[in-house]
Amino acid sequence: MYHSVGDRSEDPYRITVTPERLDAQLGWLRRRGLRGVSVAGLLAARARGEDRGLVGLTFDDGYADFVTHALPCLRRHGCGATLFVLPGRLGADNAWDPLGPRKPLLTADGIRHAAAEGVEIGSHGLTHVDLTTADDATLKAETAESRALLTELTGAPVTGFCYPYGTVDARAAEAVRAAGYAYACAIDPGPLTGPHALPRVHVGERDTAVRLLLKTRLHRLRRRPATGV
Ligand SMILES: [Zn+2]
Repeated sequence: MYHSVGDRSEDPYRITVTPERLDAQLGWLRRRGLRGVSVAGLLAARARGEDRGLVGLTFDDGYADFVTHALPCLRRHGCGATLFVLPGRLGADNAWDPLGPRKPLLTADGIRHAAAEGVEIGSHGLTHVDLTTADDATLKAETAESRALLTELTGAPVTGFCYPYGTVDARAAEAVRAAGYAYACAIDPGPLTGPHALPRVHVGERDTAVRLLLKTRLHRLRRRPATGV
């Protein structure tokens, strides 16, 4: 689970990795015989029993730096990824993070460019709202409306959702399923773990080879695998 790729002189939420660090991390994956792919790609391979060596890579929020910094790096390492964007904040910024720094989000053209380069586009809701505290109308708009807007924007079906803040409960997962998504990413969904609450691991600037190896091993212990995906 990545967010922003760029300058991290100011990074209170620890959501940014430098392009150099991402390059080193993807290089580490490739040297270990692993390859980053989109979550939809990973799940499809898994359904065929061909997911060995594949790692789902996700980038949340849809920062403009995805196109300038992450995409060239992914391409260099022959990796795919899923980008979770906010169709209610096109060309705006991460106003939901009170401490900043403000980071620009991709415009509709930027998202279409990423899609044209083979990146899977998924929904992160409309405006980055915690779905576990949203009222019924908001919950429906954040899930169903964001999917309709992104389908129109990309001209392709949108099958993936990602819970803002990684927070999910049974009601939010049901809304995501009802909106027609085939899968949804969380962080630590615990007993909700399944196709609509997939666990992920945060990868940050401090994750060098040794830490990545530990995280790979700990992930298996801390989060039970999603079955029936
Ligand atoms: Zn987010």
